[in-house]
Amino acid sequence: MQGKIVKGISGFYYVHVVESGIYECKAKGIFRQQKMKPLVGDDVEIDIISEEKKTGNVAVILPRKNALIRPAVANVDQALLIFAAASPNPNFNLLDRFLVMMGRQDVPVILCFNKCDLITEEQQQEIAAIYEASGCKILFVSAKKELGLKELQEILEGKTTTVAGPSGVGKSSLINLLAPEACMETGEISKKIERGRHTTRHAELIQLKGDGYIMDTPGFSSLVIENLEPEDLKEYFREFECYNGRCKFNGCVHIHEPECFVKEALQAGTISQLRYDNYVQLYDELKNKRRW
Ligand code: GDP
Ligand code: ZN
Repeated sequence: MQGKIVKGISGFYYVHVVESGIYECKAKGIFRQQKMKPLVGDDVEIDIISEEKKTGNVAVILPRKNALIRPAVANVDQALLIFAAASPNPNFNLLDRFLVMMGRQDVPVILCFNKCDLITEEQQQEIAAIYEASGCKILFVSAKKELGLKELQEILEGKTTTVAGPSGVGKSSLINLLAPEACMETGEISKKIERGRHTTRHAELIQLKGDGYIMDTPGFSSLVIENLEPEDLKEYFREFECYNGRCKFNGCVHIHEPECFVKEALQAGTISQLRYDNYVQLYDELKNKRRW
């Protein structure tokens, strides 16, 4: 039988099989020998031990599309980044750091601004304008007023999506609307793993109302970009892409060099000042790190 690992705790893997529910499985020794550890998000084949007790063994890990390090999850299709449009105001610097982090892992990002009921149409357009060339999908929703949820559901349909955002932006409110059965499902699993209650909580996939899964990740308030050469940062600012190779200097990082097309585009208002400023700040941060 084929399923997806939705949770892993102390050597047990909880495998969701669409037609029949969740099986508590152990991984066979062979994976340990191969130094291959099953990950949440893995599509697997399981051998059933007991249909009644819903137990089994993970027999095969199917080929992975990708495996993220943070959060540790396999086969992620996209990331949903939630900020509040207001209250709290979006931290664009944090947002841009997240885009770099996901860009490096090759994961497309959907930028979702919740609490859109608190801002005007005009303010929405201002925010949208900053990110229109960033390569992200941009969405304005309101969990409270239930606005934009249909569009969001369509984006999530049939996909595995990791959901991130600072706390207070309405992430839980949104997830409750998207996956109302999440609580029930979690309760069912926790009964089985009562004995593992004191172990650390691991990543967990939540089934959506429709087809698909989301993974909730803890709220974060800061993000440090590591192991990135400052010269490579520009690759993760998509709006610079069309100028690469056109600047006077080969390897122009678009900061202090003369005859730089990115800076010209900035002057002309084609590139967002806010995005550019965050780029420069991140660049300096990476540069200083290397010096030490
Ligand atoms: P989390 O910390 O990101 O999980 O945020 P919560 O879901 O706990 O919501 C934080 C606060 O924002 C709560 O007081 C919610 O009632 C409020 N909230 C959530 N969504 C909306 C929204 O769309 N509009 C407004 N005005 N408030 C919201
Ligand atoms: Zn340049």
